[in-house]
Amino acid sequence: MITIVLCVLFLAASVVSTAIAAVSWRRRSRAAGFGATAFLNVGLAGWSATDAAEMLVRDPGLLQLTTTVSFVFVCAVVVGWLVLSYALADRAWHPTRRFVVLLAIEPVLCVTAMATNPWHHLFFGGFRDTGFDGGLVPVYGPLFWAHSAYSYAVLGFAFVRVVRLWSITSSRYRAAAFAVLISLPSALLNMVVLSLHGRLTDLTALGFVITAPLMYWMVVRESMPAQAPVAHRRVFEKISDAVAVVGRDGRILDINPAGEGLLRLLSPDMPADVIGHTMADILGPDTPLMPGRDLLVGDDRERTVENAHESGLDLDIRMSRLYGRGDRCVGWAIVTRDVTDLNRQRRELERQLQTIELLRADLAEQALRDHLTGLHNRRHLMSGLTRAVTGAGPLSVALIDIDHFKNINDRYGHAAGDTVLIRVATLLAGAARPGELCARYGGEEFVLVLTGDDAPARVDALRARVAGTPIDVGDGRTVTVTFSAGLAARTGPETPEVLLEIADTALYAAKHAGRDRIVLAPDPLALPKS
Ligand code: GH3
Ligand code: MG
Ligand code: MG
Repeated sequence: MITIVLCVLFLAASVVSTAIAAVSWRRRSRAAGFGATAFLNVGLAGWSATDAAEMLVRDPGLLQLTTTVSFVFVCAVVVGWLVLSYALADRAWHPTRRFVVLLAIEPVLCVTAMATNPWHHLFFGGFRDTGFDGGLVPVYGPLFWAHSAYSYAVLGFAFVRVVRLWSITSSRYRAAAFAVLISLPSALLNMVVLSLHGRLTDLTALGFVITAPLMYWMVVRESMPAQAPVAHRRVFEKISDAVAVVGRDGRILDINPAGEGLLRLLSPDMPADVIGHTMADILGPDTPLMPGRDLLVGDDRERTVENAHESGLDLDIRMSRLYGRGDRCVGWAIVTRDVTDLNRQRRELERQLQTIELLRADLAEQALRDHLTGLHNRRHLMSGLTRAVTGAGPLSVALIDIDHFKNINDRYGHAAGDTVLIRVATLLAGAARPGELCARYGGEEFVLVLTGDDAPARVDALRARVAGTPIDVGDGRTVTVTFSAGLAARTGPETPEVLLEIADTALYAAKHAGRDRIVLAPDPLALPKS
């Protein structure tokens, strides 16, 4: 009866393991853990199936055969556990040839010892009646114990690896508890069987079958964020910004290729592997890439360093604190971007903007100037005069008109006329004091806005100066010109237009009085020639 029950249990276990193996195998491309789970469960399925067979076999010769076969699977389970512990640590893990050879040694020795047992009886001393339904179990020999010791050592190693792995990702306690929970059924059953010293059928495989679905679930859980970590790693490696992660002690924990490239640019003789070094080790104590003490205060800091380490590179450096469990600062992420080109473009843009501003100011100024003489034009005169009439102190407006200018044009040509206009303009402008205005009013007419009481004398002196200045008009010819001027002094709140009108009247009087003279308005008395 017990035989039947156990037989059914073993077969059920075998079916469960086969199912898990099949599902894991189909998912093997997702993570190394699935392949390892498939391998482990093939071992379990075989182990359980041969256990079921052993329940029914009564012939010692046949039993020897099934037991040997069952140990092939036992060894596979032990190896499967170890492989799983590696696969869980690294999703992309693949066993190396050396790893495979080393792990194959013990199973080969074990199965050889089993197969040759009838000659030396070192693995099994023979078979013993279980007392249940005439079932037989082997009596263990020294090689069996050696095999068990080896298997427990491997399983223990794998167990420690898994606990350490989980303690990194979740709480140490939970990881250990879960790992113990998973391993407990199989380990307990195996120990019970071993302690009974062969008085009971080996039930270890049943324990492992309880373990197997838990293992599978764990592999699924570990592989859940299937794409994300791989994608993060790839982004980290492909990103053009230099990214480094440094611990609290400033040592580099991780760095991407762009980061290494930048470090090599800044320090050509840096160590081949920078992990574990501090930025200060590599770049010197004053490096802006080392998180300083002040960084303990703020969370993030960003700054731009020009010509970092005399490299000619402008770097934008961002440092962010990283937090571990319990909001403890565990280090910093340092993201550095080469902004040399950006800075150059910015400076170039600023230079262009400056040029544009200068051009704009120049254009604005030109709009207020007469293009032939360079004097202010009538428009600027009117606005300047409007401001001037509101000020305090004496103010006079002189309207100046070159005498018989038409004759110059007629005799010497228009270009000579222009030369005369330019020369006279220069003489007039030279006579203006700071704050006074000198403008071309139109044609051969100019306006001087003078401050002070000495305006009549100054304009008359200017008249004499112009009259006494020969002007070279080309081709070895010189001309002299005179001008007449009407002068209006501000007496009350006259507007610019009124002042100019009064000056114009005086100018008209000066022309009529014979030209080459100044007339003061409203006094129509022509000043005699000095
Ligand atoms: P008056 O003594 O009465 O002022 O005689 P005028 O010949 O100076 O006066 P009129 O108004 O008859 O002639 C002014 C001349 O000035 C006519 C015009 O061709 C000349 N003129 C005006 N603007 C310019 C200029 O920009 N360049 C030259 N070359 N000639 C100009
Ligand atoms: Mg005129
Ligand atoms: Mg004239």
